[in-house]
Amino acid sequence: MKIAVVGTGYVGLVTGTCLAETGNNVICVDINEQKVQKMRAGEVPIYEPGLDILFHRNIEQGRLSFTTNLAEAIEDAKIIFLALPTPPGGDGSADLSYVLGAAKDIARLVRNYKVIVTKSTVPVGTADKVRAVFDEHLDINKGGEVDVVSNPEFLREGVAVEDFMKPDRVVVGTSSDKARKLMEELYGPYVRSGNPIIFMDERSSELTKYAANSFLATKITFMNEIANLCELVGADVDMVRRGIGADARIGKRFLFPGVGYGGSCFPKDVQALEKSASEYQYDFKILQSVMEVNEKQKVVIVEKLRKYYNDDLKGKKFALWGLAFKPETDDIREAPSLYIIDALVEAGAQIVAYDPEAIENVKKLKGDVIDYSSDPYEALNGADALIIVTEWPLFRTPDFDRIGSLLKARVIFDGRNLYDLQKMIDCGFYYNSIGRKIIG
Ligand code: NAD
Repeated sequence: MKIAVVGTGYVGLVTGTCLAETGNNVICVDINEQKVQKMRAGEVPIYEPGLDILFHRNIEQGRLSFTTNLAEAIEDAKIIFLALPTPPGGDGSADLSYVLGAAKDIARLVRNYKVIVTKSTVPVGTADKVRAVFDEHLDINKGGEVDVVSNPEFLREGVAVEDFMKPDRVVVGTSSDKARKLMEELYGPYVRSGNPIIFMDERSSELTKYAANSFLATKITFMNEIANLCELVGADVDMVRRGIGADARIGKRFLFPGVGYGGSCFPKDVQALEKSASEYQYDFKILQSVMEVNEKQKVVIVEKLRKYYNDDLKGKKFALWGLAFKPETDDIREAPSLYIIDALVEAGAQIVAYDPEAIENVKKLKGDVIDYSSDPYEALNGADALIIVTEWPLFRTPDFDRIGSLLKARVIFDGRNLYDLQKMIDCGFYYNSIGRKIIG
């Protein structure tokens, strides 16, 4: 099938590449000329494990190409995906200007039947708004005809290729039989193991995405609160996590406490759902609390540091392991590391940060407010303590003797509970993690 993907960010590029992988002909279009030039030169503009192999293979085999020219991209396409940003507007609601703006541009160009698929995360009612844009700008006398479909994306950065190639489910919101058949044909190869394509109306589909992300953000936040309580009552959150996770109704996944959720989705989607609810005069209390708790959790490590250093962080030097909002990505949007950096710098501390992929992105944002190291051990040199913010696999079994000898003091603040408490006792560290006993 001929496909166009509008927007080549984390979602658009993965979508386009993975659709090409099953034999479709995909043209990706982006307004960022530099990015398109890079991709044309064979450079993957983001870090996403496994993407580069598929990217190069499909370009070489002529199924994947890139352009800045919207007309060229959509001319022969049967299905057009919108994978555009929906950032929070000033009041927290999703900014639909990218989606509706692109819809208008596309509407003026369409000369035959096309399915317009919204992959961006958009509030309930957006399909109607997109349809209204087409109703206004589509030239039916020149053969223009469209169906508008909602098809939210559930991929996770870091495992995005796997998630797209083998989704737990595909959600499609449409009221058109013709569009439904095309979407069924398109997604068939990805659900051969029997996972469902769930068809529904557009509004339910749009809400499904927000409900999923808000539920997950709530689950993490609940565990963060349990962890905070564990510290007060002398319980171990790891034990509690296992104890509740064994209950199939709760499940083992997504129960790990930490330094709050971040990333380009959870913060903005929780905020947008709460805002949508309030527009319908519904007071979504759980989500309000989730946001409030998460704000505090993002700097919980800073509070621990303040306590340890008697509220005097001035002149202290900290090694920071992990900048990305989660492992296996270079994405730093709403990353807890940024909040920790701001709070520590404001308190007069010095930071040397290491991250396997995200340093360049942080440099663009923070410049030389902090120092960076290309080696995790080098970052420790002469630091008062090590702070762990992102659970990259390479931090899991480090050389503790080396850590101890490089640090000024054997002190670790771990926002991801990476290490065994007994191991920390054996290695003679002061070790302060989340929801567990303080060692040392
Ligand atoms: P992104 O910011 O990484 O990428 C957006 C891309 O769109 C950029 O390359 C930008 O240059 C391009 N763009 C902007 N305006 C354009 C236009 N008019 N024409 C062509 N290209 C244009 O965004 P993302 O992370 O891929 O997210 C896209 C959407 O998918 C958002 O609604 C997001 O909430 C949703 N989503 C994201 C994820 C994720 O993990 N990142 C997961 C599921 C859903």
